[in-house]
Amino acid sequence: MLRLTELKLPLDHTSAELEAAIAERLEIEPAALLRYSVAKRGNDARRKSAIKLVYAIDASVADEAAVLARHVGDVHVRPSPDTSYRFPVMAPEGWQGPRPVVIGAGPCGLLAALILAQMGLKPIIVERGKAVRARTKDTWGLWRRSELTPESNVQFGEGGAGTFSDGKLYSRIKDPRHLGRKVLTEFVKAGAPPEILTEAHPHVGTFRLVTMVMSIRETIEALGGEYRFETRVEDFVIGKDDKGERQLEGLLLSNGEVLPAKRVIMAVGHSARDTFAVLHAAGVHIEAKPFAVGVRIEHPQRLVDVARYGPGAGHPILGPAAYSLAHQTSLGRSVYSFCMCPGGRVVAAASEPGRVVTNGMSQYSRAEFNANSGLVVDITPERDYPGGPLAGVAFQRKWEELAYVAGGSNYRAPGQRLEDFLGGRPSTSFGSITPSYQPGVTPTDLAQCLPDFAVAAMREALPVFGRQMPGYDHPDVVLTGVETRTSSPVRITRGGDLQSLNTHGLYPAGEGAGYAGGILSAAVDGIRVAEALAQDLLGQSAAA
Ligand code: FAD
Repeated sequence: MLRLTELKLPLDHTSAELEAAIAERLEIEPAALLRYSVAKRGNDARRKSAIKLVYAIDASVADEAAVLARHVGDVHVRPSPDTSYRFPVMAPEGWQGPRPVVIGAGPCGLLAALILAQMGLKPIIVERGKAVRARTKDTWGLWRRSELTPESNVQFGEGGAGTFSDGKLYSRIKDPRHLGRKVLTEFVKAGAPPEILTEAHPHVGTFRLVTMVMSIRETIEALGGEYRFETRVEDFVIGKDDKGERQLEGLLLSNGEVLPAKRVIMAVGHSARDTFAVLHAAGVHIEAKPFAVGVRIEHPQRLVDVARYGPGAGHPILGPAAYSLAHQTSLGRSVYSFCMCPGGRVVAAASEPGRVVTNGMSQYSRAEFNANSGLVVDITPERDYPGGPLAGVAFQRKWEELAYVAGGSNYRAPGQRLEDFLGGRPSTSFGSITPSYQPGVTPTDLAQCLPDFAVAAMREALPVFGRQMPGYDHPDVVLTGVETRTSSPVRITRGGDLQSLNTHGLYPAGEGAGYAGGILSAAVDGIRVAEALAQDLLGQSAAA
């Protein structure tokens, strides 16, 4: 099989034209093209008047060796990569040995547990939140009735933080073993649309994610795994191994039980602030890391479509457009768009009482009127929150509390028209763009609940973005705050064996541990850590 990349065709082409283009590019007769499939499809919209679809194709041809020989040195004609997944180890049939524990049923924990279950290791999954259906009701409670349930919300519960999201499933991580492909294949088995395997920028939207995590649960349970919902890990029992080194022995659960566990994948996400504090108190190595703060910005989706696609705006094959913008300010801050959601809505993403946090989500159709994106400014521990491993958490809480007050102390979010934000005056109403955040947005002055440097950096960047994308800085564009949970404020550092630097048996993983950002990269990290744990466990038991 050959992999042909960067094959470009006009938007409206037929499959016969695609086949002809493949044959022409490979310099073969049409009849010598035996079979082909699309490995990836994206688009190139740099010339708006002539937007192209860009294909990667896997092709079977009559004389593959001859075609490869003819294209020696051509980086776009290569043997197809082997993207199949192979388990590095498998438990003996009917494994009765120690069961690994996974804390957290977000994308990282779910894929870790699924891989462990597929290897025959019957994991136990401990999740502080509720199963996804009950969780959905609680999440809507905040959006519809201003009622926050601290253990069951956008951040906590089965499916993790990405469940009520746009479900974007791509990442820029290096992935030489094609583990992302394994994740997407499992998602398709669980009900995701098959095109996520071929789209360059796939997404599934929020409703599909709910049924997908239920389906993954059924698979894990059928393989002997066990879920414990509404069970929070409250402490870590750490002893010494026979070399005198720190060894995890068990977990103290919120029901008072101590669960014996010598190998635990900790995939708690970036909002498990209480768990970070417990880990720190227990002496587990943890350090502050950089992240970003800012606001959500909303534009009419049509404006984004026209800016990105020109006359191609609205073409069904392109769908609603996304964007990605970045600016380095004169004061050395980087301002960038983050987690852009075409045709979606801004969501209330708080998990703690008396705090307001924004994020974004969409349905599969991405058919809502507004596009939204984080507009955030980079921050570092050294410069912005010195003071120890948990100083980033304190920093987040401060701005989230100020946002709660600025919004009216009732979970409405503070918001501002862009023109008012740039002019340094509070908004008293919104204009032609209606904010989408529920339970509502209070027009006010966002400078009250953002660091001065972030306000200055965004004020510098917005007109620059307006020049890059006409209409981006329209006076009525809505800013809603605050966006503080862009990534984890801590790193729970691990060594080459993927275990905690100083606590054997603890495998920090995913976004909360600072090793992923986004659904796909968290799930890939879950696989890597599950493999490392299984190799350690089965290696040891084989020797025993
Ligand atoms: P999480 O998904 O945060 O999962 C952690 C789990 O651990 C949670 O279920 C939590 O309840 C549980 N937990 C925490 N502490 C404990 C404890 N002490 N005991 C037991 N259980 C515990 N990313 C994308 O790639 N695409 C998107 O479109 C996208 N949109 C998003 C939209 C929203 C609204 C949000 C909030 C996030 C979005 N993200 C998106 C980010 C993405 O959700 C995260 O990067 C991803 O979920 C991280 O996965 P994780 O498994 O590491 O952690």
